[in-house]
Amino acid sequence: MRIILLGPPGAGKGTQARILTEEYGIVHIAAGDLFRENIKNKTALGQQVEAILKAGTLVPDEITIKMIAARLDQPDCKNGFILDGFPRTVAQAEALEEMLKNKGIALDAAVQMAVDDEALVERVSGRFTCAVCGEGYHDTFKKPHAPDTCDKCGAQGKFTRRADDNAETVRTRLETYHSQTKPILPFYEERGLLKTVDGMAPMKDVTAAILALFGAKKASSQGVQAKKNG
Ligand code: ADP
Ligand code: ADP
Ligand code: ZN
Repeated sequence: MRIILLGPPGAGKGTQARILTEEYGIVHIAAGDLFRENIKNKTALGQQVEAILKAGTLVPDEITIKMIAARLDQPDCKNGFILDGFPRTVAQAEALEEMLKNKGIALDAAVQMAVDDEALVERVSGRFTCAVCGEGYHDTFKKPHAPDTCDKCGAQGKFTRRADDNAETVRTRLETYHSQTKPILPFYEERGLLKTVDGMAPMKDVTAAILALFGAKKASSQGVQAKKNG
């Protein structure tokens, strides 16, 4: 399974990608996470892109494409992957097409998560993440069950907020999405790969809509259990 998740900042790409990763046993490749990892580790790439992420504009295609190409070369991508936040320009979409062609593989779908612009500032402003396991939360839409404690891994006091998740930068990122990323929708439409789900629905309904696009689960825990038993 090879899927692209397309949508503006706050559309729910990361949230759904994490669920699909567990569902299908494939890797989640988030361009923004890779950049942030490099910034945190103070690599040469990190130093090159730090100011760009802070401003909310796009990292140049050449740098981004090189980073993703290296990631797709890793052996863990062999079983499939979910690309979250890449491609974000037509040049990136073209480069991805070329990369996959050279590997002799194809995309299953590009899933567009359709959301209203007005909802996105609130989505992004209320976002926080567990620094230990990466689980995503929201001040209103997904609060942890116990205050300051991660539901998923139990870590306490480890929630972090992204430096670029403020109302002002979100507006820049939204403009960037409309001017530079939206033009890739026709690119995938022409190739018969574009699927659209309603990203305004509750999280679990969005998950169900995406799963419905791809049919039965690859290896549900029940299915695996049944196989082991019989
Ligand atoms: P969001 O979750 O809000 O969609 P991301 O974590 O995907 O944001 O991206 C954060 C930032 O990283 C972007 O604002 C941009 O500066 C940079 N970035 C991420 N993906 C790309 C890409 N494909 N091309 C260029 N820049 C990117
Ligand atoms: P993206 O990766 O597209 O930028 P995220 O998955 O990080 O978006 O979601 C942004 C914020 O909105 C997070 O705080 C997340 O918990 C919340 N969120 C995600 N999907 C939904 C949804 N369907 N309804 C309400 N809130 C959501
Ligand atoms: Zn956690």
